[in-house]
Amino acid sequence: MKYRSTRGGMAPQSFSDILLEGLAPDGGLALPERFPAVDADTLESWRALSYAELAAEILRLYIDDIPRDDLLALTRAAYNASVFGSEQIVPLKPLNRGLTLLGLSEGPTLAFKDMAMQFLGQVFEYVLGKRNATLNILGATSGDTGSAAEYALRGKRGVNVFMLSPHGRMSEFQRAQMYSLQDENIHNLALKGVFDDCQDIVKALAGDLDFKSRYRLGAVNSINWARIAAQVVYYFWGWLRATTAAGAQVSFTVPSGNFGNILSGHIARRMGLPIRRLVLATNENNVLEEFFRTGVYRPRSAEQTHATSSPSMDISRASNFERFVFDLVDQDAGKVKACWKQLDETGAFDLSGLKPLFESRYGFVAGASTHADRLATIRQVYEETGVLIDPHTADGVKVGAGHVEEGIPMLVLETALPAKFGETIQEAIGKPAPIPAHLQGLARLPQRVEVMDCDAELVRDYIKRHVAAQA
Ligand SMILES: *Cc1c(COP(=O)(O)O)cnc(C)c1O
Repeated sequence: MKYRSTRGGMAPQSFSDILLEGLAPDGGLALPERFPAVDADTLESWRALSYAELAAEILRLYIDDIPRDDLLALTRAAYNASVFGSEQIVPLKPLNRGLTLLGLSEGPTLAFKDMAMQFLGQVFEYVLGKRNATLNILGATSGDTGSAAEYALRGKRGVNVFMLSPHGRMSEFQRAQMYSLQDENIHNLALKGVFDDCQDIVKALAGDLDFKSRYRLGAVNSINWARIAAQVVYYFWGWLRATTAAGAQVSFTVPSGNFGNILSGHIARRMGLPIRRLVLATNENNVLEEFFRTGVYRPRSAEQTHATSSPSMDISRASNFERFVFDLVDQDAGKVKACWKQLDETGAFDLSGLKPLFESRYGFVAGASTHADRLATIRQVYEETGVLIDPHTADGVKVGAGHVEEGIPMLVLETALPAKFGETIQEAIGKPAPIPAHLQGLARLPQRVEVMDCDAELVRDYIKRHVAAQA
């Protein structure tokens, strides 16, 4: 399987080549040359597989430069009971009103980002080892992504992580989670600024190409193809667990921000998985809901982006959306380029002419949820079922409930556990979310973090002091 760019300007590359890259050289995003088809018989033959075995079956369709046995060893190391708490890895949790949760948040950081990051950590170490290379991950986080990356890469050979976070602006739980890591290859830098300042510094340093190559900087952000591929697996898993017969249909609702999670659902559907609908749920930052309603994509500025009680969905632009647009315009890289040129020039592009296809061809529908919806949904689900859901999952439940159809299971992706967002839970049900037993001592652990002023040169110096330059 070779990979190409959504903008058409990249020579075909292998999985291992694109694994360590961010944007394609032409500014586009990497995609496989085709989506491998999975027929009904193959799908049925997968019913008895463990999660790790299923992951190896699906990922090998996209990764042909890692031998099969090695790939299975990687998925076994990523997806096992010691990392995800039980053999199921992704449990299904029935709710009410025709909805079921797809439990994607049983990993070390209690959010679905662990699903992809745990595999990424294994495959990074493997590929770097084969190439006798090292890589220094530089990233900025406001919470979920950074901690998932650190837990996946801690102690891995050949990889260092330099993670910038805004000093004093993450929840106590999130801080304790990240800063309590004592592994030598994990570097937490708390900058006296906001998340956007941290991200600007990452952009400045990664944009200094000389520095970037001398210090072998890399990224693990949401456009990483291996993350998208790893997420495809749990759509198949959800379908296999929610159905008993070939051809049965399932719908999924996906709390969305950067369009990474639901893009994986789209790819599963393109591979032939019988998905009826992909329901995209946003919070008040409804750029994507607006697109599916109007056909116009109009990202917002940082100032126009609301700080909401489902903060991991507070995005202004959806970094993976270009991969879906590529399909919408029949994989015509010229049309993709024209869209993004128009976006640069006018702040928006208009694909309303293709609107009839959004649902009929691709199964997409969308809806938005608000703070009041979130609170009411958390409370209602708790009262009716005893299950406590987190604010992001609540956005999904709220929107998904409006699209339930008789006889078709609706799986809502549980993108985080409530313990991570205690304040909103308290507001919704009048008491805090329970902290899982194994994390109760977290806040008392010693923390390892370097607090510094918000200055790219300080971060540059820190990296130089901790990594040997390459000639
Ligand atoms: C990252 C995240 C999302 C959004 O996922 P995308 O792939 O960016 O669409 C939703 N909920 C939680 C809890 C997250 O951490």
